[in-house]
Amino acid sequence: EWVDAGGDLLGGGEEEVEAHAHMPVLAVVGRPNVGKSTLVNRIIGRRQAVVEDTPGVTRDRVKYDADWNGRRFTVVDTGGWEKDVAGIDLSVALQAEYAIENADAVLFVVDATVGATDSDEAVVKLLRRAGKPVVLAANKVDNLALEADAAALWSLGLGMPYPVSAVHGRGSGDLLDAVLEALPEAPVHGLGAFREGGPRRVALLGRPNVGKSSMLNKLAGENRVVVDPLAGTTRDPVDEMIELGGKTWKFVDTAGIRRRVHLTSGADFYASLRTTAALEKAEVAVILVDASERLAEQDTRIISLAIDSGRAIVIAYNKWDLLDEERRYYLEREIEQDLVQVQWAPRVNVSAKTGRHMEKLVPAIETALESWEKRIPTGRLNAFLGQLVAAHPHPVRGGKQPRILFGTQAGTKPPRFVLFTSGFLEAGYRRFVERRLREEFGFPGTPIEIRMKVRE
Ligand code: GDP
Ligand code: GDP
Repeated sequence: EWVDAGGDLLGGGEEEVEAHAHMPVLAVVGRPNVGKSTLVNRIIGRRQAVVEDTPGVTRDRVKYDADWNGRRFTVVDTGGWEKDVAGIDLSVALQAEYAIENADAVLFVVDATVGATDSDEAVVKLLRRAGKPVVLAANKVDNLALEADAAALWSLGLGMPYPVSAVHGRGSGDLLDAVLEALPEAPVHGLGAFREGGPRRVALLGRPNVGKSSMLNKLAGENRVVVDPLAGTTRDPVDEMIELGGKTWKFVDTAGIRRRVHLTSGADFYASLRTTAALEKAEVAVILVDASERLAEQDTRIISLAIDSGRAIVIAYNKWDLLDEERRYYLEREIEQDLVQVQWAPRVNVSAKTGRHMEKLVPAIETALESWEKRIPTGRLNAFLGQLVAAHPHPVRGGKQPRILFGTQAGTKPPRFVLFTSGFLEAGYRRFVERRLREEFGFPGTPIEIRMKVRE
């Protein structure tokens, strides 16, 4: 039983699938008679239709639509391959090969009552090398007494075996939860958020007077942004398309930037509303701060909002033209102190007024977006975690020493990791893991989420 112990959670709801073509694919792999087909039927339920049935000379594959907790995915049953013709080992190797090429994650089914065979081990090697996320199902665990057989499958080195009984349905909920964790999220409905292909969506954020509209003017060209003479009357946020570095970018909620409302009270509230609205629409936030002044509480609040929203982040130190040598000296120290929570964000030192270093903005945004979408293969991640745990074990607490058993990257935008552990990892150790993850793989410009699943 794995308990979701939370950890450093970020906002952002469950994603829904938009079109079949984009659905994540789960391949079900395993030796003949381990119960793959039975398990697939269990996963898809009887109401699901076969979406593709491709008999072939050497291989059959059947695709189904599946749905668990509101998330849809495609299941590919590789059950019928080559059993008789090519021999068991070749058949299973072909399945693995298919899975490696075409699936987003693999459900590897082993018969727990038989245990791991040589051909199981061979498949594990193939899957490991491919780096696709693998969920290990220990099937035919029809009752509690058989759980020990399932536990023996830790030896495969694929992390926790999920004990299930495909026939009785036992344990299938936990297994499906793990499958969802392993699958990449599908594109989202609605605003077209996170859809591939369209222009990248950028939010310019910052407290009043840091220079957001000046920057927008500079980026768009002097004539593109017209200040609304009836400031404060526009109610709908308006986005703006701007071409930079040969690409079109969508600057979201620019009307909210141009709108100059001088409220005697509630200005903070308004500013944070706009920040939240813009973040919702954006993929990356460029947060402007005024380099000529000490970082204010409102600056840190905006940075926190951006981190919590899970967006990619670039920090722009604006009004650089106002800095003298003394200010620059103190600024360096302030950055170290005040921006600890976003040490990982790329920084650009610019002047929206003179245009100084404005050309560095787009590369910084691109770096941040790249990190935001980065995926670490499960094999590499676990090699890293294994070394980390060996070199820096969790401190012993009350006679116990929680361990990271294995991990997987469950999603991107931002990168989301799940660590399966033998006990609750304390906050200091989680931060240490995050720091080492960043050192090892580099995630400049993106928050990362680390969740724990604790084995009970
Ligand atoms: P496949 O070769 O992977 O497609 O395996 P099948 O799904 O055809 O199952 C092979 C045999 O194992 C069938 O006789 C199933 O009824 C049986 N089987 C599958 N799952 C279970 C299970 O959870 N418990 C038990 N006891 N038998 C199972
Ligand atoms: P916003 O409220 O964040 O949109 O800020 P504005 O763009 O309206 O800028 C506020 C004030 O700061 C204006 O007087 C701008 O001319 C000035 N300003 C903006 N950027 C710079 C800069 O890089 N250098 C200097 N010296 N002044 C700037």
